[in-house]
Amino acid sequence: MLNPYREDISKLRVTSPFGMRNVNANGVGDIHKGIDFVSDGDKTLVAIGDGGIITSTMVTDPNNSTSEWGNYVRLDLDSGWRVYYCHLRERLVTVGQRVRKGDVIGVEGSTGYSSGSHLHFEIRPAGASTEAVNAADFIGILNVIGNVTPIITEPPQDAEYEKFKRLMVHYLTETAADETVSEWAVDARKWAMDNGISDGTMPQRFIKREELWAMFERFEKILFKGGILIMNMIEQIENNFMYHAPKEGQPEIYQKIRDKAKEFAYLINELVPDSREKSLAMTKLEEVVMWANAGIARQ
Ligand SMILES: [Zn+2]
Repeated sequence: MLNPYREDISKLRVTSPFGMRNVNANGVGDIHKGIDFVSDGDKTLVAIGDGGIITSTMVTDPNNSTSEWGNYVRLDLDSGWRVYYCHLRERLVTVGQRVRKGDVIGVEGSTGYSSGSHLHFEIRPAGASTEAVNAADFIGILNVIGNVTPIITEPPQDAEYEKFKRLMVHYLTETAADETVSEWAVDARKWAMDNGISDGTMPQRFIKREELWAMFERFEKILFKGGILIMNMIEQIENNFMYHAPKEGQPEIYQKIRDKAKEFAYLINELVPDSREKSLAMTKLEEVVMWANAGIARQ
């Protein structure tokens, strides 16, 4: 993922995701074209890639007070994408300056139309379009309120899981609120909230949010928990029937076990009369040696 802060992502929160917000009962709302972040630690902002500073300015209204994006910086990446860092307390770059990924841009603040210190982070394609892309997708995090969660792409089964989770979160965060929860959905609701998939509010859509919680919870249990169990079993079978070349020190240990077993075998041979039972005891003793050695080899 790309991080617009110098601070570790564990200290960052998304306070307003990209997309529709303030949706009323008629489905009317406005589009939040950026994503809002708050850092609970270092509030220094950094370039998410190499590029040039195109704008570094303070937006003011006719009364000369700070408005709109307030103190903001526009960084054009070498790839053409336009990156906006808005509401800054301080701008620490000048127009025309070249920056490398990780270089300081400014400091999170509350200038312009802002009710508290945060970064409005917006990404637009090359050109003059005022349309923005989903900045969360662009930098590789979940577009959801709460602690910043990177989209994990490894290992493969997690990538599928994260893709599904992202789709669900995307659906859930673009909907209006209704707090009623059916009795049958209480567990699923708790699970969805514990796993950071939903803040617990409910949409007014053709599929209820509680139905999605339940679907998702079952999906996770059946496909992923089940899938992982199957994966573990396959791994175990592979391990059981794999040839393990002896590692350093192991041949000596095998020999120690064989020597002790041989001693025991001679004792049995001497004390036990020839019989089916004696023969079985010898076979079992061989088995003991075999399992003990396998236990060492498969580690
Ligand atoms: Zn914003």
